[in-house]
Amino acid sequence: MLESIRVAKRVGFDPVKVNAVAMRGFTEADIVPLGRLARELDVEVRFIEFMPLDAENRWERERVLFAQEIYDRLTREIMPLVPLDGHDPKTPAQEFQFQDGRGRIGLIASVSQPFCESCNRFRLTADGKLRNCLFAHDETDIKAILRGGGTDEDVADAVRKTIAAKWEGHQINTARFIQPERPMYLIGG
Ligand code: SF4
Repeated sequence: MLESIRVAKRVGFDPVKVNAVAMRGFTEADIVPLGRLARELDVEVRFIEFMPLDAENRWERERVLFAQEIYDRLTREIMPLVPLDGHDPKTPAQEFQFQDGRGRIGLIASVSQPFCESCNRFRLTADGKLRNCLFAHDETDIKAILRGGGTDEDVADAVRKTIAAKWEGHQINTARFIQPERPMYLIGG
């Protein structure tokens, strides 16, 4: 993996972002080494709070390692983090740089500090289904429209309707939350 990151940088990808899912009782020991890796390779390491999108349906709130804890640990054990200028509220990560300017950190606090109200994301899966949220229960079958002879306007209409139906948020922190059937690996990043 390290060599792949180096190659990505060498051929000009910029920025290079490395995602790491943060799970309590499992990834604490990796926080500081990953922070150091961000500095050593000059990349952005993004810590993503563990979300209930696992194929095994084993997610529990107690297993989420919160972004604030990661921030505190990096600040304490490496050096203070400074927020990057020009944060776009529609992007999921809060982005920081270590105080000396070497190495970036992204914190995606999707469970502890949901950012759904500013979300502009929707996803088209590899099997042609349009989803208006990672946690959506309904999908629009775009492939079926295309294979059924649908026009560009039919597709545009379906996309508009799907986006208009976007809900207020994932509700992970409420008793109403229901994990979607499609796990993350079948959705795409
Ligand atoms: S609305 Fe859905 S896709 Fe957007 S941030 Fe919330 S959970 Fe993620």
